[in-house]
Amino acid sequence: MHPSSFRRFRPKTFAATVILSTALAGSGALIAGETPWSRIQTVSVGAPAAIGGPSNGCIVGADALPAVGPGFVSIRRHRNRFYGHPRTVDMVRQLGEAMDRRNGKLIMVGDLAQPRGGRMSSSHVSHQNGLDVDIWMTLADSAATAVRSTPEERDPPSMLGANKLRLNDRWGPDQLFLIKAAAEHPAVDRILVNPGIKRALCQSENNAAWLRKLRPWWGHDAHMHVRLKCPKDSPSCRQQSPVPMSSGCGSELAWWFGLEANSPKKTSAKPAPRPDPPAACRNLIAQF
Ligand SMILES: [Zn+2]
Repeated sequence: MHPSSFRRFRPKTFAATVILSTALAGSGALIAGETPWSRIQTVSVGAPAAIGGPSNGCIVGADALPAVGPGFVSIRRHRNRFYGHPRTVDMVRQLGEAMDRRNGKLIMVGDLAQPRGGRMSSSHVSHQNGLDVDIWMTLADSAATAVRSTPEERDPPSMLGANKLRLNDRWGPDQLFLIKAAAEHPAVDRILVNPGIKRALCQSENNAAWLRKLRPWWGHDAHMHVRLKCPKDSPSCRQQSPVPMSSGCGSELAWWFGLEANSPKKTSAKPAPRPDPPAACRNLIAQF
């Protein structure tokens, strides 16, 4: 487990408690934090299909994102979390190609899913069914620089200033281009970003239709979490409830800056029990 990962993705209070408890709930031959899913080194061969939901699912027929390609570089490969549904991998490639055409820089791609998806030993509750990918908002000049500048213990920098209320000067037209391209991609269902980023874009982008796909969430001030819709080839994929049609720039966004969202929350002493994985997912790890 990497403490820095907890800091990075810490969704505060209750969710953090759940992550911590699940991460420590190893048993049998597993070391603390490990899950059977994190030991699997091979994809499950078969027609691609995302199964279950982002926080309780798995993936058959995953593609591996290459270490580097036009306009993108995949970082922290030692985590072995660079697998996803082929649509997810295609989407990343297309964003990379768009950035390459724009300025020759590279987007830095973080975690997708494990070879067969499933629960991870650290950092995320989601990223389980091959449809989630983290993309850092900092761009790289070269693959070598990207890998060198992002050791496990040092994340790329935040895009927000003090108190996470305003964009800082690391944010610029390239970041706007990247998040807009992701939001406008037809396969993308939603993008989790810090409320400070969403608010700034609500102000500068004047109710643009793509803003609705930006969903405010804790953290996510240095990277965006892009989630795809359930693909047609995946009948067992559990689609989240749809993103509202409005821009989400009004009262919903204001809540994040109010007292309720920012006061300390009570944490549950007992985390909610982890749901059983779908049966089709249990089959994928049966022999491990
Ligand atoms: Zn993520």
